[in-house]
Amino acid sequence: MTGGTKTTAPRSGAVAGALLCLCLTALGAVGCTRVGPSVDGTVDLAPPGDDALELTYLGTGGWIMSHGDDQILTAPLFSNPGFFQTGLWTISADTSEIDRWMSGYDVRNARVILSGHAHYDHLMDVPHVAKRYATNARILGNRTAANTLSAWSGVEDRVESIEEYVGDQETVGTWLRYGDVRIMPLRSRHAPHFDGYTLYQGSVDHPLEREPRYASEWLDGNTLAYLIDFLDAADSVAFRIYYQDAVVAPPYGFAPDALIEVRPVDVAIFVPATFDQVDWHPEAFVANLQPKRVLLGHWEDFFVPVHAETRSIFLSDIRHFEKRLERVFAGDVWRPEIGTVFRFPR
Ligand SMILES: [Zn+2]
Repeated sequence: MTGGTKTTAPRSGAVAGALLCLCLTALGAVGCTRVGPSVDGTVDLAPPGDDALELTYLGTGGWIMSHGDDQILTAPLFSNPGFFQTGLWTISADTSEIDRWMSGYDVRNARVILSGHAHYDHLMDVPHVAKRYATNARILGNRTAANTLSAWSGVEDRVESIEEYVGDQETVGTWLRYGDVRIMPLRSRHAPHFDGYTLYQGSVDHPLEREPRYASEWLDGNTLAYLIDFLDAADSVAFRIYYQDAVVAPPYGFAPDALIEVRPVDVAIFVPATFDQVDWHPEAFVANLQPKRVLLGHWEDFFVPVHAETRSIFLSDIRHFEKRLERVFAGDVWRPEIGTVFRFPR
């Protein structure tokens, strides 16, 4: 580990790997979780030329969000190192795999790349995406993310910790404005991965002296969720999005009640993977955010290549999550395949 790094994580990739392998062994008898059908292609609910919000799912935590000329990204992962490699050996960004997927999208004008926490699946591919594709984007995340993407990354001047601006259920945080998009970080947490155990937990308090090599060196830091407003010409909210990239036990991860009372969320993006490690996810979030529509991200197995047949992450019963969601939410819910595009009307 690099000097200056404080961590409660396993001190080597091998230890974390052994834990992961134990977990896999325990789950081996169960096999991959079966889930209901996902959605693919384009879900276009907005009339042509209408004032629409466009959302493209890139897999794991990754989305492209666009409204008019304003565009932002949430941190994608395409490298998908295999399960045993992630647990036992070194991992790094697979730039040819990133190129294969990102070259299909024009994100040159993306204003920011948002990351909720600094685990490898939410940060490792970000430097290449930022240097090659989202070349004008600021990279926003927690303090650990800013310290992890230090000089080695080539994007250290573009990374900002926005932890200090957090809001929560009781407190309206600070809006950060980028063009006609404003973003508020929300105080959140990271649910355990299995059996109460959270992998790669800890903070990086000083800039890393070199690139992380093991998954266990990508520590989460203080997890953030986000409220994202796309504004119209009159500075009114055209679309309000809630984004989380990790399951969290409520009321952590909540948006301020005072904001939601005035303007509920148009689209809430929830993470189903490992939802059963906490209570009342997703029910409490539906109550807090009052979303019009719900999208599920970070639901698929990211230990296999992106082009492999999509299957659910083995740690969670996604269908059970969807059933619980259906009980408290009557609106539309989609669980997209990678590349699915949504167009929603105002
Ligand atoms: Zn994580």
